[in-house]
Amino acid sequence: MTEFKIHNTYGNKKEVFIPNDPENIKVYACGPTVYDYAHIGNARMAVVCDLLIKVLKEIYPRVTYVSNITDIDDKIIEAATENNTPIEELTNKFSKIYNEDMLVLGVQLPDLQPRATQHIDKMINLISNLIENDFAYFTNAHVLFSVKKYSNYGKLSTRTQEEQIAGSRVEILEFKDDPADFVLWKPSEDDQPGWESPWGRGRPGWHIECSAMSEKTLGLPFDIHAGGQDLIFPHHENEIAQTCCAHKFNKPQDYAKYWFHNGFVTVEGEKMSKSTGNIKLVNNLIKSIPGEVVRLALLSSHYRQPLNWSESTIKQSKNTLDRYYRFLYDTKDQETNEKKIETTSNKVLDALCDDLNTSLALAELSNILDNKNNQTKSTTKTQLLCAGKILGILGESPSKWLGYEDQGEKFDVSLIDKLIQDRIKARNNKDFTLADSIRIELNNMGIEIEDTQQGTKWRKK
Ligand SMILES: [Zn+2]
Repeated sequence: MTEFKIHNTYGNKKEVFIPNDPENIKVYACGPTVYDYAHIGNARMAVVCDLLIKVLKEIYPRVTYVSNITDIDDKIIEAATENNTPIEELTNKFSKIYNEDMLVLGVQLPDLQPRATQHIDKMINLISNLIENDFAYFTNAHVLFSVKKYSNYGKLSTRTQEEQIAGSRVEILEFKDDPADFVLWKPSEDDQPGWESPWGRGRPGWHIECSAMSEKTLGLPFDIHAGGQDLIFPHHENEIAQTCCAHKFNKPQDYAKYWFHNGFVTVEGEKMSKSTGNIKLVNNLIKSIPGEVVRLALLSSHYRQPLNWSESTIKQSKNTLDRYYRFLYDTKDQETNEKKIETTSNKVLDALCDDLNTSLALAELSNILDNKNNQTKSTTKTQLLCAGKILGILGESPSKWLGYEDQGEKFDVSLIDKLIQDRIKARNNKDFTLADSIRIELNNMGIEIEDTQQGTKWRKK
């Protein structure tokens, strides 16, 4: 069986992946808090996790992927008040948009997408266990987790206590025993959403939501817990503390064995922020950029490294895909041999099995097209499609991708072919002025031409 290697944030090293049960791999990823459109930072997590799942599915017979929706949170309450919209309407709207946008990027829906508000009972149950086991305390209508009572606290993020406090954007509650303690349950005002609990009407803290939903949907322990790097501390550190202390587990691995985190996204070298106004929303991007281009751009650097979103990243991804689709169009009459798929895509899969080495995988994909082994076009096409399937690209119809099937725009193909032939003649006669004017004429018709070793090719701009 193919060996899969994964960088485990817990222990900070690359490890051979040994599942709890090879018959069913269980993965949980922290999903979006749904009160606004997703930006490319959110999308990177979804795309990287989708790739992880696709690779695991190549190796193992069954993969269960759970990614939640946080539909109760102070930011949601604020946004609902600001927009004068009922909370449920707001969260339904944005979870639908999130799923639709991710689908455009080739992200398959998780097998289960639990919503926090549907699992309040489980949260109350965990919090009760934590109080019973003396890891949590009730004060001023709040339930708080007592960080100093859990000796493994800080082991995931390898932060010292001082760093923990400095980095946790600690809620200022003067009645905390310790500034590092975090909220498990808080009271709700009459006009805020709330649920009855042993501690009065209130709502859960964010961290307990994921402890509850992951356990309820996957059972414990599960194999991989994923999320963006910004969630390592405090969110994931707190999840480990809650689950392990509620169940009196000795080691954090009794909750999740591998911790998988993707890096940040910057925009033209700058951090994305509301104040800079450079937040790139997926919903806007996909209006003008094909989903596969966005996906490939998001996979263009290793998932653990920062990714710089720039015009040149987009352009490069588009050019790469154009090249593949051009080949697939030119070989549209070639049969593919499905049986060969398993054996021929090994190099791309091997690269991905090494902690999702996408740079190497994409280089191997390019090697397939360069056809250094002088294989038949049919074999090359089979290999490309197979590798594309794992990477979640090359799923479009080549003629549609190249703009040949555009609705509402009629291209006079014979005229285009004639102009291209005229241009070739002009170039052969060294009449470059005429050749250039023909290129401009085609350009004005919305046609882009490219001179390749196989001749001049055209496509819709
Ligand atoms: Zn979470």
